[in-house]
Amino acid sequence: MKSFPKPQISASDSRQRWLLQLTERNYALASAASNRIDAVFEARGVQLPDECRQLLSLIAKHTAVSRSELETLSGTSRTTIVQRLGLLFAADLIRETEEKQATGGRPSKLLRVNEGFALVIAVDIGESLTRVALTDLTPQILAEEVCPTNLESSPTLVLAEIAVCAHRLLEQIGRPLSHVLGIGLCLPSRIDYRNARVFGPCVMYGWEDFDIRGWFAEHFPMPVFADNDVNLMALAEYKHYWPNEDHFFFIKAGTGIGGGIVIRGEVYRGGKGTAADIGHIQLDLPNPPLCRCGKLGCLEAYSGGWAIARDLRAKGIEANNSRDVINLVKRNVPEAIQLLRVAGKGFGEVAANVVSVLNPNLIVLGGTLAEADEHLMVGIRELVNQRCLPLATQTLQIVKARTGDRAGILGAAQLVIDEQLVGAGLRRPD
Ligand SMILES: [Zn+2]
Repeated sequence: MKSFPKPQISASDSRQRWLLQLTERNYALASAASNRIDAVFEARGVQLPDECRQLLSLIAKHTAVSRSELETLSGTSRTTIVQRLGLLFAADLIRETEEKQATGGRPSKLLRVNEGFALVIAVDIGESLTRVALTDLTPQILAEEVCPTNLESSPTLVLAEIAVCAHRLLEQIGRPLSHVLGIGLCLPSRIDYRNARVFGPCVMYGWEDFDIRGWFAEHFPMPVFADNDVNLMALAEYKHYWPNEDHFFFIKAGTGIGGGIVIRGEVYRGGKGTAADIGHIQLDLPNPPLCRCGKLGCLEAYSGGWAIARDLRAKGIEANNSRDVINLVKRNVPEAIQLLRVAGKGFGEVAANVVSVLNPNLIVLGGTLAEADEHLMVGIRELVNQRCLPLATQTLQIVKARTGDRAGILGAAQLVIDEQLVGAGLRRPD
């Protein structure tokens, strides 16, 4: 594992000075965050007429990948489409590939965004590790650094180190900051998505309500998007493996428990950003255990990695978190397997409620505990099939996540791409 070399700055003042020097040297093209896409166009020497933006957005979103689809969706004539595509090709913004469409059939020529055109800085601050990466627009990781997370460190120090690291990675791949579309942050806490602020209790010291965008605006002018880890893991899993699945539910089964909803390609966050917070749904239990949130009988207090570890310790077996639980399961320790199977029923009970409310076609199980495969899955499938109407479970698949430990960082990159390239970034400010 690589680790962050310590930045050669100690006092707060010198760090500020150092970052300011970077600003003067490299940020000339980084204009206001709201027109970042225009700043990237400018840096790449592209002058894109407004009328081409809609086509680029449709191609970036994979909504239209052929000339005939563009014609239908944009309501523009074939001749105009050809002329506008010509401009996008000339600007190196799109490319043509020969591949099969998801619907099958013979390979045909499809339009894709040129993934190397711009970069994204993606950051995943986990409870134990922090990853900083540069990705292209696929998103694929081009360079990455990983270091232990210091939960006691202040947000200003953590963000300054991330900025330093991002610069180091840009130097490593030989690309300028002016090619960066934005920064995506994955955080282990509830997020007010609109304002990119942490709200509610947070395991990281000093982050609650910290003005993340304000800090970046002052020190590292970039559009910043932040979301909680489970939403971004769900987004990454959806985009990489299930892009045609319109009704998607993700469960993170780790030391804690969370959920993520992706409906027609977009994360559904709810009114206050707490949608799918399934870890604190209460189960009907004879002796409900006390949860970390202070309530009794939450799913997390019954099936979370910390709860299973607690029950293992009560049996005299050393365990502190979901990783310890899984290591015991992999060593075939019967107490750990038995507790995990019981935990699966807790997940199943909540998943059954999710199916009744949302009717997803797919439930993907991720997080450390998902490594237990069938020991956990069996209880979930059993309860869902038992509790839900056949109509809701006929086509329902329940599968294990595949994106692995880079799900958070890939989700963070995807968030920036969706916001900047697919969505508002391509609309001219009024
Ligand atoms: Zn709780």
